[in-house]
Amino acid sequence: MCRDHTSLSLRAPARQALGALENAGYEAWIVGGFVRDALMGRASGDIDIATSAPWQEAARAFAAQGLRVHETGIAHGTITVIVSDEPIEVTTYRADGTYTDSRHPDTVEFVNDIAADLKRRDFTMNAVAYHPRRGLFDPEGGVPDIEAGLIRAVGDPSRRFGEDALRILRACRFSSQLGFAIESATMRAMESCAPLLSRIASERTLKELQGFVCGEHVYDALMACADVLASVIGELKAMKGFDQKTPYHIYDVLEHTAYAMQNTPAYPLVRWAALFHDMGKPRTFFTDDAGIGHFYGHATVSVELAEPVMKRLGMPSALSSDIIELVTRHDDDIEPTPKAVKRALRRLGGRVDLFRALCDLKRGDALAQAPHCHNRVALADELDRALDAILEAEEAFSLKDLAIKGGDVIALGIAPGPEVGRLLEEALEAVIDERVPNERAALTAFVRMR
Ligand code: ATP
Ligand code: MG
Repeated sequence: MCRDHTSLSLRAPARQALGALENAGYEAWIVGGFVRDALMGRASGDIDIATSAPWQEAARAFAAQGLRVHETGIAHGTITVIVSDEPIEVTTYRADGTYTDSRHPDTVEFVNDIAADLKRRDFTMNAVAYHPRRGLFDPEGGVPDIEAGLIRAVGDPSRRFGEDALRILRACRFSSQLGFAIESATMRAMESCAPLLSRIASERTLKELQGFVCGEHVYDALMACADVLASVIGELKAMKGFDQKTPYHIYDVLEHTAYAMQNTPAYPLVRWAALFHDMGKPRTFFTDDAGIGHFYGHATVSVELAEPVMKRLGMPSALSSDIIELVTRHDDDIEPTPKAVKRALRRLGGRVDLFRALCDLKRGDALAQAPHCHNRVALADELDRALDAILEAEEAFSLKDLAIKGGDVIALGIAPGPEVGRLLEEALEAVIDERVPNERAALTAFVRMR
């Protein structure tokens, strides 16, 4: 997996930033995720530099080269330099002091060697330094861990998670994004420190969780991290090991959920909806006389459980209301006929994107069931094709497609108000059911008859 360790490809702006610090007489290394991703042959994200230069000196060195600098975190010794439009974070070597809030060091101590700086980083895979001439510097053993696909805390895991509980969620997120396993002592410490997650700001928790749900390896990561994540999303505990006792399912509710997520495309709306879609199953479960499990109304209960979680996480309301819509409708039977699809679109407020997402969710859900249910994927494909045909033919399925508007209804002598909307909805229903053509004269006549 690892490329030639001594020559990672480094973009020109990174070389220029290193050069500026070195010309001023300081030491500098590329560190963190960029090195990790480059070693894995993955597209690398932001570039981080660690340097012996105090931040004021680093800022002076960059300014001397005509580079723009932003003081993005000077309390922690961090500035951001812009090189050819690329922002590069530059942080003075530091060791963190004590932590009392499970998130931020009370003090930071600037140190003068890179080894001490690497020790304060979260995981060995993120504690590797690289320099184009000096090659890799890996005192924490990050390179072998990257090769083995392992997430391992730097130093004593319990102490590190006790200092900053966000690291627990970072481990879950990295596991989902990179497909890495979490080393066992690190995982044990994550589980025992997980209650500290309640102290993490909701926006940070949400950001890490969203990275987690959208990871390429979310199945493995959810199966491995469910106990930890249950500190944030309590119902995961009840889902784990919950036997569904139905011929449609061969997995417990948690594993079914993990497969459903893995089998949906990686965008937040559908991945969150997949996470929540069956959360209500343990609470609605009962067995009939034949011992078969049923979950009537589980979608509604899933919504009831998901809503407070999303609220607590401060999820944007537009996203959470779309998630609720998908969870509510994930089990709706929709015939792949133009009429039925248009009715479903109308129920979704004419939202084509939501309908597509519902198809994605249905496909993922089907693939996570017993193999004999996988043919339901074809049904979701048919729904997608039926929608294509409706769009192609420009058929009406929402009020904005209707050949009459509110003004036309008012012109018929209806007082402005809710009655206008109701009549338009009736007209739309009639058009979708093919009782009235979507034409102005026909629709005006229809409304006049109501
Ligand atoms: P990515 O950007 O792909 O999410 P990354 O590893 O670059 O991953 P960043 O959040 O950009 O993560 O942080 C850069 C580096 O800073 C990390 O690689 C790690 O060395 C260090 N770091 C970040 N957050 C923490 C933390 N909470 N505790 C300790 N070290 C951290
Ligand atoms: Mg990064």
